[in-house]
Amino acid sequence: MRSVFGFAVDLLLPRVCLACPAPARRELSLCPDCHRLLEPPPGGAAAGGRLEGCDAFFWLWAYRPPIDQVILGLKHRRLDYLGRHIAAEAVAALGMELRRAELIVPMPMHWRRRLVRGRNHAESIARPLAAQLGRPLRSVLRRRTLGHPQVGRSRRQRLANPDVLFHCHRPEHVHDRVVLLVDDVVTTGATAGRAARCLRAAGAAEVIVFVPARTPDPAADSSAIVNG
Ligand SMILES: [Zn+2]
Repeated sequence: MRSVFGFAVDLLLPRVCLACPAPARRELSLCPDCHRLLEPPPGGAAAGGRLEGCDAFFWLWAYRPPIDQVILGLKHRRLDYLGRHIAAEAVAALGMELRRAELIVPMPMHWRRRLVRGRNHAESIARPLAAQLGRPLRSVLRRRTLGHPQVGRSRRQRLANPDVLFHCHRPEHVHDRVVLLVDDVVTTGATAGRAARCLRAAGAAEVIVFVPARTPDPAADSSAIVNG
């Protein structure tokens, strides 16, 4: 039976799908048709993938329509409840893998960018994920340089992005622990790899990276075209 709270939440959610004009259903504010278009990783989410500098890497969907609209909604329209939906999907698909983590660390945003945006969208995913996994959330990383936004830039531009340097200001939290680092999207993986290496250097036993969406690997795409 639906709770009064459930109905109250419904009233607050956009009634239209984030990716098309059809009525939305509750999960991720997508309509059933758009929800069916979400593309899981080859082999399923639990199969994970490789990411340099990390011990394990998991994502839920390829970063292409309609999930891009969900991520943009979280990032730019401040639809924070989407973070809870993403966390619920992550626990459903990857509960066993993610529960290996002893603490959750959100990918930090440079303080200046956070000031402009008002909040860190990686934390909007990491906080409900920590609550649903029953693990503590620790914002132990600081970003030293601003970097440039990655979406909309070419692969060459992204790789040329000046080093984003991280600093772990509370190493005692991560020492000897399995850490789950959470971000919204992985593009080249360079930033997540650097953050993971920083956590390892601070003493983390293992770093698992989770993002809801990963941009399809351009190298894999071009080889598919050549082979196909
Ligand atoms: Zn739709």
